[in-house]
Amino acid sequence: MSKNVHTLIEFLQKAPSTYHAVAALAADLRAAGFAELQEGQRWQLQPGGSYYVTRNQTALIAFRLPEAGFAPFNIVSAHSDSPGFRLKANAEIELKHYTQLNTGGYGGLIISSWLDRPLSVAGRVLVKTASGLKSQLVNVDRDLLLIPNLAIHMNREINDGYKFNLQKDTLPLIGSNAAKGSLMAQVADAAGVAEADIVDSDLYLYNRDRAAVWGADGEYFSFRRLDDLECAWGAVQGLIDAAAPKAHIAMAAIFDNEEVGSGTRQGADSTFLTDVTERIAHAFGADKEAQLAAYTSSLMVSADNAHASHPNHPEKDDPTNHVLMNGGVVIKYNPNQKYASDAVSAGLFRLICGKAGVPVQAYANRSDIGGGSTLGNISTAHLSIPTVDIGMAQLAMHSCYETGGSRDVEYLLAALTAFYATDLASAADGEWQLA
Ligand code: ZN
Repeated sequence: MSKNVHTLIEFLQKAPSTYHAVAALAADLRAAGFAELQEGQRWQLQPGGSYYVTRNQTALIAFRLPEAGFAPFNIVSAHSDSPGFRLKANAEIELKHYTQLNTGGYGGLIISSWLDRPLSVAGRVLVKTASGLKSQLVNVDRDLLLIPNLAIHMNREINDGYKFNLQKDTLPLIGSNAAKGSLMAQVADAAGVAEADIVDSDLYLYNRDRAAVWGADGEYFSFRRLDDLECAWGAVQGLIDAAAPKAHIAMAAIFDNEEVGSGTRQGADSTFLTDVTERIAHAFGADKEAQLAAYTSSLMVSADNAHASHPNHPEKDDPTNHVLMNGGVVIKYNPNQKYASDAVSAGLFRLICGKAGVPVQAYANRSDIGGGSTLGNISTAHLSIPTVDIGMAQLAMHSCYETGGSRDVEYLLAALTAFYATDLASAADGEWQLA
């Protein structure tokens, strides 16, 4: 059995929201000796040093420098956000007999997965201080809410392809009409602040169901936010575990808002990554010429979970590429380059996985099914380095309770740890050396 699946589950337990996910990754990095940088201060970087920086509390870039200081980059990117429901301002709705909460959908969620299970609220509140504002993470760590289905007797079409209305069918119940006024009191209490000091908030629902390692041989595990916190955790844990980089910079880049197009200042379609790479270059006096040369010997692994073959729907698979949980790392290909992988980037990553003893599978959409998009293309528009799109196979992507392969957690860590420790160099277009 895989021991790391339990380490991953412990991390996911600490990550009911995007804010908590990034805070937990930052805590792991600090514990491993990474020094925190602030974007608003001058960076004093030491050769051989390990650092991380966060933006908006929801994106994080961590890196380990070689003794040379500036060098090409081995980057693993992943995303911190997952689809779900966000509380609106003035969320309480007082009905005649009940109090419910007003929410909006975030990203492409599987709505039905959110019904009839205990839910709660996590995120951040902005609190007044003597001189301004301070963000405080909050998790109402108890079963608080539920979105009840309508009985089949009153909705005979529920099993015939029901269309959920997000302003009617999915509002969570918090209590009787006596519960009016209790939401922000509970949030303030959980945050340890005075309710009157809360100026604004970013609060989301999360699924309270416990994690499960299951199957005849414990080969599967299920929990919330596997897409993409499994890869975000692997990116950071691999960086911590990897041998010190010799002739490159090892970097993990975790972006927010992938599920809504990445177009925010903390998303992959921002300058966050190039801001960091340029500041590293600046710290070691690497001029533009040196930077551009270094990018040609760099590689990005864009890690975002992949679809496993569904037992009830094998017809959804590509005819020649059947992706399985516990089958190792999945490389994603798309003929129109919606995935950034090509023979060069995928070939390099295949070599690295082979050396690490990690099996590799290939994913492609059926040609008559449009696929999803991910981070790879979006970040290469800002930092043009060869990129391979990968992920770990999972079922029920964008459900609030997703399923992955227990042994794949080992494969993910082994592959990324090996990648972070590999020196890559491209002396000419189409030619690469690995060391
Ligand atoms: Zn994803």
